[in-house]
Amino acid sequence: MIARVPPGAKLTRTELLCELGLSPLWRLRGQPLRAGATAGVHEVAVNPSLVQGPLAAGAGVAPAASTPVVAAALGRSEEIAAMDWQELRQSVAACRACALCQERRQAVLGVGDRAADWLFIGEAPGAEEDARGEPFVGPAGQLLDAMLAAIELRRGSDVYIANAVKCRPPNNRTPEGAEIERCAPYLRRQIALLQPRLIVLLGRAAVNALLGDIGSLASLRGRSFEYRGPEEAARAIPVLVTYHPAYLLRTLTDKAKAWEDLCRARVLMRAAKASAATTAARGSAEPA
Ligand code: SF4
Repeated sequence: MIARVPPGAKLTRTELLCELGLSPLWRLRGQPLRAGATAGVHEVAVNPSLVQGPLAAGAGVAPAASTPVVAAALGRSEEIAAMDWQELRQSVAACRACALCQERRQAVLGVGDRAADWLFIGEAPGAEEDARGEPFVGPAGQLLDAMLAAIELRRGSDVYIANAVKCRPPNNRTPEGAEIERCAPYLRRQIALLQPRLIVLLGRAAVNALLGDIGSLASLRGRSFEYRGPEEAARAIPVLVTYHPAYLLRTLTDKAKAWEDLCRARVLMRAAKASAATTAARGSAEPA
């Protein structure tokens, strides 16, 4: 369906929703969308105790290095945590920390605006991504672009896209837990450098990378989480879970649920920006 859209074509929002299979226009049940709407945000309390995955604050960092292997892992994490963008790109390109390095053509760090408010995290590079060195190209990438456009976003502008693991798993299989964990310091550093206002997790591998194995994707949709990096001054970043575009291409009936998640993401982003503006205004009003 999405392949019918010529590259660069400008579509109206209604046309985009048609391309997403969401025509007639989808509405949040019982909550008509309106300008400035914030409904939904206050209904779901953020529960930091649920954030216990490899990237949760302090997680993945053992309290003491009891063996040389653990010490080496800690050293690698700390080294990556101090990298700038260029060092990160070079390190990922040369990384051989897990078996996924063996069959990759190239590692795929991520793409987009490094000052973006939005961070979308997927699973792993596929064949086309491995060949081109960019995440989310091919049909799943086209669907992601259409999803972004439906909420008035576009790749490269206020959006950064990354994957839970940076190298293509053989035969596009799902990355294993150990591979996600080995790659976690890179994702953690990307988040620290980007400082997004909102993180959208696309699919199970991204959930496992950021939140850990805490439930089925269906059970996590519609709930709010937050990620706080291990850095001392790290702030809590809201996290939202939805389906991976590749899954949506196979399961058309769940596209409406993804649209619901995107609407909610937009509401969360508005709330995050409003909260930041209030904090900034309070700061500038305080006497010196
Ligand atoms: S997937 Fe991540 S940890 Fe594994 S080799 Fe690639 S960059 Fe390194």
